[in-house]
Amino acid sequence: MVSQQDPRRNIPGTDRLLEFVAQQQVDHEISDAALKRMIQQLQAKARSGDIAPDQVKDQLLAELAASRASSLTPVLNATGVIIHTNLGRSALSQSARDAVHDATGYVDVEMDLGTGKRSRRGAGTRHALLEAVPEAEDVLVVNNAAAALALATAATTHGAGKKAAVISRGELVEIGAGFRLPDLIASTGVELTEVGTTNRTTVEDYAQAITADTGCLLKIHPSNFWVGGFTSTPSVAELRTLATEHDVPLIVDQGSGLLRPDPVLKYEPTVVEALNHGADAVLCSGDKLLGGPQAGIIFGTTELIHKISRHPLARAFRADKLALAALEATVRSGTTPTIEALHYDAEQLFHRTHDMAQQLGVEVIEHDGRVGGGGGAGVRLPGWALSLNKELAYPLRTGNPAILTRVHQDCAILDLRCIPAEHDTAIVETLRALIGQKHNSGTVE
Ligand SMILES: *Cc1c(COP(=O)(O)O)cnc(C)c1O
Repeated sequence: MVSQQDPRRNIPGTDRLLEFVAQQQVDHEISDAALKRMIQQLQAKARSGDIAPDQVKDQLLAELAASRASSLTPVLNATGVIIHTNLGRSALSQSARDAVHDATGYVDVEMDLGTGKRSRRGAGTRHALLEAVPEAEDVLVVNNAAAALALATAATTHGAGKKAAVISRGELVEIGAGFRLPDLIASTGVELTEVGTTNRTTVEDYAQAITADTGCLLKIHPSNFWVGGFTSTPSVAELRTLATEHDVPLIVDQGSGLLRPDPVLKYEPTVVEALNHGADAVLCSGDKLLGGPQAGIIFGTTELIHKISRHPLARAFRADKLALAALEATVRSGTTPTIEALHYDAEQLFHRTHDMAQQLGVEVIEHDGRVGGGGGAGVRLPGWALSLNKELAYPLRTGNPAILTRVHQDCAILDLRCIPAEHDTAIVETLRALIGQKHNSGTVE
C-alpha cells in the first residue's frame, strides 16, 4: 500500500503523460507503443526511487528529444581506415544518398512506366554498370559478393548438371568473422576440387583436375593477405586457354570492385583486366573500392549471366531497391568518398590537421591511412593525424558527434582522411570541451 504521504503518489499516470506529450507538441519519431514503453520505464524508475516523481515529465521530454527510430548512430571515421567493415564499409556519395532517399517510396524498380508492363529488375543500374564496364556483355546485381560467389558456382555446377568447381589451395580464403569462402561455396552442394599447394599452383594442376563433373574453374583474389617468396599462380589468361580447351566457364572473384587500374593500388587486380583476359564471369563487392552500397556484382557473358540469373538462389540473393538506387548513382557520379579518401593529398591533409592541432594545442604525427575492408593488403597511404591522450577515445566515441579514433600505443590517433572537412568545427569544439574538462579535473571519464 502506498501511504498518503508517499511521494510515489505523485508519479504522473500514463494518460496524463500522453496528454502532456501531445500538448508540448514534441517532434519525435517513435511509435505510440514505444512512447508508452518509455513512459512506463520512467514511471518504474520513479517508483523505485531512481528519479523523483516531479522529474518524470522533464525526463520524458529529454528522452523523446533524443529518441530516434533507428539505433544506428552516425560516426565520424577518424581511424584512417577507408573501408571500415565495422562502420559499414564505404560512405556513400551525396548523389547515392539522394538516390536512396528517392527510392524509399514506390519506385519503378521492376516496371517500364512507358508501357506500364513489368520490366527487368534494376534496369537503370544494369545500364550504368555496363556503361562503366563495356568490356562485359551483361551484369547481375545481388546482395553481396559472397552471394555472387555462391550463386555463380552453384549455377555453373549443379545448375548445369555438373558437380564440382576447381580451385587453387592458395585461394582458400577466410574473409573475416570466421567466414571461409570454400565453406560458402560448398554450402550449396558444390564440391570443391582443390589443386596445387598453398604457395604454388600451376595450370597443369588445374588441367589434371578437370573431369566430366567439372562445372567451372574458379580464381579467387586473396585480397586480405599476400604471399611472398617461392610462389606462383596461373594468370586469368592462362586459365582462359584451359577453360576453352575443356569447355568450362572461368569465374573470377575479384573482390574489391576496383574496375580499372589505380596508381595508388599498383598490385590490385581489376575487374576490366579479368574480363579482358577472358573470364566468363567476374564478381566483386559494391561497398569496397567501388565505394557504393552493400552489393555483389557479377559481370559476364550474356549466356553465363542468363544462366546465373535463372538459378533459384538468384531470387534469394536479389538486391533490394535501395541498394540498386545507391549503386546506380555511385557508378554514374564518378567519384566517391572512398576514392577521394584513397587519393587524399598528403600536403592538404597536413594543413588541415596542423590547423586543428594549433587551435587545440595538441601534437601532429605522421600517420599512414589504410585501404581496409580486406583490400589493398599492405598498402600504406602516407598522411598525418592528431595524437591525443588515449583517455579521450571513449568520450569521443560515445559523444555527439560520435568520433571513432584509432587507439594505438597509448594514443588516440585522430586521422581526418575519411572525414569531410565540414565537420572540422564540430570536432574542434568537441575536443576543446573534452581537453578543457581534462585540465580542470585531471581526468575525463
Ligand atoms: C570481400 C570479398 C568477398 C566478400 O564480399 P562481400 O561483399 O562482403 O560478400 C568475397 N571475395 C573476395 C575476394 C573479397 O575480397
